[in-house]
Amino acid sequence: MYDDTNIFAKILRGEIPCQKVDECDHTLSFNDISPQAPTHILVIPKGSYVDMADFAANGSAEEQAAFLAAIGRVAEQAGLAEGGYRIISNIGKNGHQEVPHLHMHILGGEPIGPMRAR
Ligand code: AMP
Repeated sequence: MYDDTNIFAKILRGEIPCQKVDECDHTLSFNDISPQAPTHILVIPKGSYVDMADFAANGSAEEQAAFLAAIGRVAEQAGLAEGGYRIISNIGKNGHQEVPHLHMHILGGEPIGPMRAR
């Protein structure tokens, strides 16, 4: 069940500010407030989807295509395409998802390191 009191829903409604880097009809992208890399951008759909599983099952083909396109466009515009970067979408408790509105993290600007710290 989607909870529209989450912080990204508030950003989408304009109730709290964000550092926007990109927007289209179906997506908004902004800098993470607590960056884990020199470049750390979040891409979110404007629709109310909890996570990637919800979006895959219930997002329209147009929304899904726009989300993927936004990820590529934002990475390119941030200058990450040549050096490479990592995209991560955390899902649920084991995925350590903190904000229950689908978001893709784009991390880059330096070597991002191993996939998991052990
Ligand atoms: P996750 O653990 O995958 O749910 O990640 C949530 C991310 O949202 C974290 O990296 C936070 O730093 C980030 N975050 C939380 N509040 C804000 C905010 N107001 N503006 C931008 N990023 C935020």
